[in-house]
Amino acid sequence: MGKQDLPTAFVRQMESLLGSDTEAFLDSYERPRTHGLRFNGLKLADVPQLKEAVIREYGLTPVPWCSTGYYYGENVRPGKHPYHTAGLYYIQEPSAMSAVELLDPQPGETILDLAAAPGGKSTHIASKMKGEGLLVSNEIHPERAKILAENIERMGVTNAVVTSAAPDELSRRFPQAFDRIMLDAPCSGEGMFRKDSGAIAEWTPQLVELCAARQWDILQEAYAMLKPGGTMAYSTCTFNRSENEDMMERFTAHYADMEIIDMKRLWPHREAGEGHFVALLQKRGEAGGHTWEASPSERQRPRKKGRSGNGKPGAGLQDAQSALKVFQAWAAEELPDFALPAGSPILFGESLYLLPGGELLQEQQLQGLKVPRAGLHLAHLKKNRIEPAHALAMALSHQQAAKRITLAAVDPQAYAYLRGETLQVDVSLKGWVLAAVDGLPLGWGKASGGQLKNHLPKGLRQH
Ligand code: SAM
Repeated sequence: MGKQDLPTAFVRQMESLLGSDTEAFLDSYERPRTHGLRFNGLKLADVPQLKEAVIREYGLTPVPWCSTGYYYGENVRPGKHPYHTAGLYYIQEPSAMSAVELLDPQPGETILDLAAAPGGKSTHIASKMKGEGLLVSNEIHPERAKILAENIERMGVTNAVVTSAAPDELSRRFPQAFDRIMLDAPCSGEGMFRKDSGAIAEWTPQLVELCAARQWDILQEAYAMLKPGGTMAYSTCTFNRSENEDMMERFTAHYADMEIIDMKRLWPHREAGEGHFVALLQKRGEAGGHTWEASPSERQRPRKKGRSGNGKPGAGLQDAQSALKVFQAWAAEELPDFALPAGSPILFGESLYLLPGGELLQEQQLQGLKVPRAGLHLAHLKKNRIEPAHALAMALSHQQAAKRITLAAVDPQAYAYLRGETLQVDVSLKGWVLAAVDGLPLGWGKASGGQLKNHLPKGLRQH
């Protein structure tokens, strides 16, 4: 696309916004889009040498506003490399990396990402939280929430719960619950034009109005979930004022206890990136803990069959505890150096999860919600045995597994594993084996008689 493809009403809007800068802005549409990736701090600690190797291999250059962010050129495909599957980095538009940098999440906090799929900002937040505290990562559309959950698992995040709820459903369960909230709002996507010509076809001045109305609604719910003293980042990938500065002015005028701490614009004609708006806001008041208490109606709500617990009255927690014991006995043998992260066990059908957050999150808060990922998926329970979950493999350090194989990224076997093929292994290997690429876990296999049966989930296999 070029600047001649832009809608006339959009060009007029930009003229009134940018004045003499408009020509430079429009010229940016004649240049190729930018590409970025962000290294995952949760993985880098184990394999620090791989960062330099990837920087060299792809000729990466740093993104100035994000210490873990890098630009890559049009002709390289880091998304196809086994290191991508292993969660070493996340492909993310460079300007979008500015939002979480401004939010500045800290380990141990309780954080909500309210509009989270496919997960660029959630995985960035998780990497800064270093596995400590609670991240609730929410996406209203169930199909997109599944992709979000997959990305969170791929990056080895242990302390995130993925929900799929409308903002008002969530705010009923989490009043004033979060230290920080990321609201990367659904917007008219004016910053997507270079990347996606479909966004140009969809754009109209009415779309801008519609998006602004929706953002206003979502902001009410975000406000209700923010603790006094808490901070919130509001971001969009669009340029008009209605969805950005005007929205923030209206919001802070409406809520006297909200104040704007900072507001940033990244413009495609000034910085290398597609453009982003981010505002940092703070709710006045004493920062302090908030203990969630079930409302009478929540307390009386019956357990849902198959969602949590095994459907037998009163069985839930007790059963999850005994499932955890079985898992721990398995892990003592198979993962001798693995320390279970903080959390409580929760059963969803045959799946055992570790719900993070301790006091910060209680199982009842999730009842009645769609929860694609109730924390760290530890295992599938089969009659009397345990099958370790793929998410667990991705959350481990390779050396934590008693039985492991590592494949070099240049070895065709690494690609064979990712295609779901059976591998030849040493005959002495028996049972669950953690397969890795250059020391980064990729998934499980089960060894017997010199063969490693592939346990990479079918949906993740590459063809
Ligand atoms: N934060 C994500 C990331 O960094 O990967 C991108 C989020 S995208 C800009 C906005 C998200 O808001 C979309 O996934 C969209 O499905 C979701 N959304 C759409 N309507 C919504 C609504 N009414 N309330 C909350 N989220 C909504």
